[in-house]
Amino acid sequence: MSQLTCPVDRSQLIDSKASGEESSKCDLCGGLWLTTAVLESLEDNAASDDMVKGQRQYGKHVVDHTCPHCNEQMIRFRYRGYNLEIEACPNDEGFWLDKSEDRKIRDVMKQRGSNLGRAASAERSWHSARRGEKVGIFQRVKQLFGIH
Ligand SMILES: [Zn+2]
Ligand SMILES: [Zn+2]
Repeated sequence: MSQLTCPVDRSQLIDSKASGEESSKCDLCGGLWLTTAVLESLEDNAASDDMVKGQRQYGKHVVDHTCPHCNEQMIRFRYRGYNLEIEACPNDEGFWLDKSEDRKIRDVMKQRGSNLGRAASAERSWHSARRGEKVGIFQRVKQLFGIH
């Protein structure tokens, strides 16, 4: 597998299987690259409703970042209409999450306060994650979709 470079700062991405799924991380900016297969496996676990997948690319626009795989300009969009923007390869090879999306993921989690049980559980995971080792954004995306 060829070496991938960060779309933001061009440093080399580090392959990671820390959370049980393949991903590539930038140690410099903290961004994360997920392949389409990994993201789709997340979605299959998170939602059985095919309608939800159809809403994935809402409000999309082209950005300056280029895809680590094909070097074409990526498309930024709001993930399933959440206030969470991620970037996608135009050839569906994968997705890029900025480190700055970290906070937005937490905000989305807070917005789900109507489901008190899940919110409390997400809060607990978040706090235990903060006490222990640094948990990657991928883990928090999982928590966002209710996968524990
Ligand atoms: Zn980077
Ligand atoms: Zn690409």
